[in-house]
Amino acid sequence: MSLLIRQIPVWVTETNAWVVADGPGGKGFVVDAPPDPEAVGRHLAELDVAVVGILLTHGHIDHTGGAGRLSARTGAKTYVHPDDDFLTLHPIEQLERIFGMTPPGEYDLPDQFEHLEHGQRLDLAGVELEVRLTPGHTPGHCCFYWEDEGILFSGDQLFAGSVGRTDLPGGSYEDLMSSMKSQVLTLEDDVRVLPGHGPDTSIGRERQFNPFLQNLV
Ligand SMILES: [Zn+2]
Ligand SMILES: [Zn+2]
Repeated sequence: MSLLIRQIPVWVTETNAWVVADGPGGKGFVVDAPPDPEAVGRHLAELDVAVVGILLTHGHIDHTGGAGRLSARTGAKTYVHPDDDFLTLHPIEQLERIFGMTPPGEYDLPDQFEHLEHGQRLDLAGVELEVRLTPGHTPGHCCFYWEDEGILFSGDQLFAGSVGRTDLPGGSYEDLMSSMKSQVLTLEDDVRVLPGHGPDTSIGRERQFNPFLQNLV
């Protein structure tokens, strides 16, 4: 399998869509769907990837807005945790509450969502991912752990040098840190972290240098 991983940062929030495929022309999946499905679609077309799944780390609009268009175009199922339904199912209210306006973008919801649950193992395009529920940034936030490759899709739980904000509805700093201890920092140092915003990093690097994790490790 000639593995292909592409980071596509788009929209006003520079939210990463991550495309994983077994090489150009193969099957693949997408982690997070920012409200710019055209940009993500251009990469998918260029790579000639047949998308078989759209995984949403959480229900914030900058990660979900493009899911409707992407799933309509590819026929792929969209996965999200039900504890974020209060966010996922109300994209426009989020925009107004968080941004105070509606920035240009696409905000179509998929016809239906597949619900994620903690501990579930997903098999997408030959890749097995473990679902790790990591409440804190939002109540239904999930990270996806790809054990075979040593990769964690960390969404807005963990960034290079920072952690997700917890001041939005349903957020909890205590929960975020408790998720960090039990679901993230239990991973080995060489696990690569592919976050929802910004550059990739590793568990070891964050354990050592991330100022938010210094009292935890
Ligand atoms: Zn978020
Ligand atoms: Zn985000």
